[in-house]
Amino acid sequence: MEVAEKLQMLIKDANFECEGGKSLSARSVQQLKEQRLHESIYHAKVHSGTMPLLKTLLTNACIKNCRYCPIASYCDHLVVSFKPDEMAKLFMAMHKSGLVSGLFLSSGIVRDPDTTQELLNDTAKILRSRYGFQGYIHLKIMPGASFEAIKEAGRWANRISVNVEAPNEHRLKVIAPDKSFQSEMLPTLQNISKVITQKRMEWLERRKAVHRIGKGWMADLDEIAKLTVPSVLSSTTQFVVGAAGETDKELLQTTKHLYQQFNLGRAYFSAFRPICGTKMENEKAENSIRERRLYQADFLLRRYGFELDELIFDENGNLPQDVDPKLAWALKHPECFPIEITKAEREELLRVPGIGPETADKIVKARKEGILLTTDDLLRLGIPLNRASPFLTLRGKPLGKKSPKEIITTEQLRLI
Ligand code: SF4
Repeated sequence: MEVAEKLQMLIKDANFECEGGKSLSARSVQQLKEQRLHESIYHAKVHSGTMPLLKTLLTNACIKNCRYCPIASYCDHLVVSFKPDEMAKLFMAMHKSGLVSGLFLSSGIVRDPDTTQELLNDTAKILRSRYGFQGYIHLKIMPGASFEAIKEAGRWANRISVNVEAPNEHRLKVIAPDKSFQSEMLPTLQNISKVITQKRMEWLERRKAVHRIGKGWMADLDEIAKLTVPSVLSSTTQFVVGAAGETDKELLQTTKHLYQQFNLGRAYFSAFRPICGTKMENEKAENSIRERRLYQADFLLRRYGFELDELIFDENGNLPQDVDPKLAWALKHPECFPIEITKAEREELLRVPGIGPETADKIVKARKEGILLTTDDLLRLGIPLNRASPFLTLRGKPLGKKSPKEIITTEQLRLI
């Protein structure tokens, strides 16, 4: 098999795709040949737009038996692998041709977590030290990897992540019977957190040193070069949503715990899709609206100052799907509205449906500058009045006349 075809296979497996109802083993090499490489590039969302990444596995061999995974050891699939130096060389060729600007590297587990982690770490090390690659590298951490192996990953990567997959032991057993939340996932998260804390302290020390140099306490330019400040290492995790019968409340409880106790930067939610050839191929796919509601609730917890017990869950512990979590909260709390836009604190503005942190900041800034006299001013600031106006007054006058029922109907129409 040619290098490009091998890479296409590993990219596909990294994205867990099921093509046209065919099992992975039935996917022909010819199909892969026909697909051009640039069509497989993953475009990650970043502040300034998107960043093209080579998101791939190092190998699609795995000793584990996760029931939803197309490369689990029980699956009949063609196994392909790259060595670290082969992957590094391939990546650099793609980088030089302008196809990708960063690498997101994962792997099936071969032999044991540390052996696999070393292969991933070696790839990143080769990129940094042999090729001098300074760009973005995201390395997956294998569940159960040792502190030393994770520390080494943190030495070369900008971001490290472990997929915890489910919110607790009981749910994890449903989808990954030979993994343990308590004895594998939590210790791995703890070690990631330790590595991140160490890296942050190192980073702060370096910043201080660069600052001192800038102030002329150390005048040697070579010293400055040695102390180039790297970006701060961050960590993420991913949950498979809807595969283990878990509730939204369970997912968000665990997410919040990981933010508070384990230095987690961000949680991702991926709606379960059954993949042909796996033990869960006949299970129902999860609704993508659920995934969206979880992201919205996660934002409320991380960036809007909401507490978990303020979120509205139904009797089964799930978020309502017909309205977003903030609108659900606002409709449950009519006593908090309307709020006066010319006076409200930033925290109060953040409770208004349609107003996010950036919009709240714009409103506060505009008020300081003496703006916010008319509804046109609000529109010029980009405030989504169709959603926010029923909850606001401007100089004592209501901005909108919609009833809660009309708001829900509009939200449902938006969904359709
Ligand atoms: S550990 Fe589980 S989810 Fe990860 S590659 Fe192996 S079988 Fe798939």
